[in-house]
Amino acid sequence: MAAITTTVPQVVLQSSTGQRRMPVMGLGTAPEAASKVSTKDAVLEAIKQGYRHFDAAAAYGVKKSVGEAIAEALQLGLIASRDELFVTSKLWVTDNHPHLIVPALQKSLRTLQLEYLDLFLIHWPITTQPGGVKYPIEVSEIVEFDMKGVWSSMEECQRLGLTKAIGISNFSIKKLEKLLSFATITPAVNQVEVNLGWQQVKLREFCKEKGIVITAFSPLRKGASRGENLVMDNDILKELADAHGKTIAQICLRWLYEQGLTFVAKSYDKERMNQNLQIFDWSLTEDDYKKISEIHQDRLIKGPTKPLLNDLWDEE
Ligand code: NAP
Repeated sequence: MAAITTTVPQVVLQSSTGQRRMPVMGLGTAPEAASKVSTKDAVLEAIKQGYRHFDAAAAYGVKKSVGEAIAEALQLGLIASRDELFVTSKLWVTDNHPHLIVPALQKSLRTLQLEYLDLFLIHWPITTQPGGVKYPIEVSEIVEFDMKGVWSSMEECQRLGLTKAIGISNFSIKKLEKLLSFATITPAVNQVEVNLGWQQVKLREFCKEKGIVITAFSPLRKGASRGENLVMDNDILKELADAHGKTIAQICLRWLYEQGLTFVAKSYDKERMNQNLQIFDWSLTEDDYKKISEIHQDRLIKGPTKPLLNDLWDEE
């Protein structure tokens, strides 16, 4: 019997080359030490289930595996062409220097065995000395972030055809306003934390007005992986999940979909990967929204540096 695949709705990225379409839901690939499933196996399984959008980054160390999975999916005939996929990668802070950006993307493409990315993002509005990935980032290695020079090189990447669209991640409204004051290509996407415990209403309104698509990361606030969790252990959401006959994760993802957002959820588990896809044919009620508005708000990802930077979020 043929496997049942889910078709994920798409949005158009306004400033992309050829009006590229992005599936609203993608598979996250940020590594987790506890995961028993390899990235290659997870991406291949995801393609079988209907995922077409994959969120990678230089910092995750997964590009080789993602590339191998795509090559195998093509070989197996799971997809007819690479164009059916939407692949995102992100520039790490060590390469946030204007002259390093095109070479960094070319290197990423070689590792992924791809000719182009669909979306290339500045991972953080922070620059450090060039070098290998270190996480968390040492504050002593931070140098000035030349936003104008960096964005100009990102635009060059799109003009060269190395990526269909460019964007940013973890940018506040204040930093986005600065970027928009000199951008000749508007960022197609701002990838930021959005989940039921950090709903980001103002940033979402600002991006919508500017035609910038938000991609929500950590949509489950890291799922079950981090001890107590403001959404996955939330009594209000448990009640909603029971009433709908769904899981809390599905309530979280359905809410993002109803907000008109795109999102990248990470599961390498076959069952949970499939569960997360089953959110497109039912809806939340007005009463659910009243309950959702009572959920305590607190940012999960406070920053990638040690110690944390005071001005990273511009107090937004
Ligand atoms: P997440 O997707 O909110 O949660 C992932 C965790 O939830 C995993 O431990 C996963 O475990 C578990 N999970 C997934 N589906 C579940 C379900 N239905 N029920 C119970 N548990 C479930 O968190 P995330 O990985 O932080 O964020 C997703 C992606 O966003 C990342 O992988 C990365 O691609 C991106 N991201 C970007 C940034 C940035 O700075 N731009 C920052 C953070 C994340 P199993 O795998 O075992 O299912």
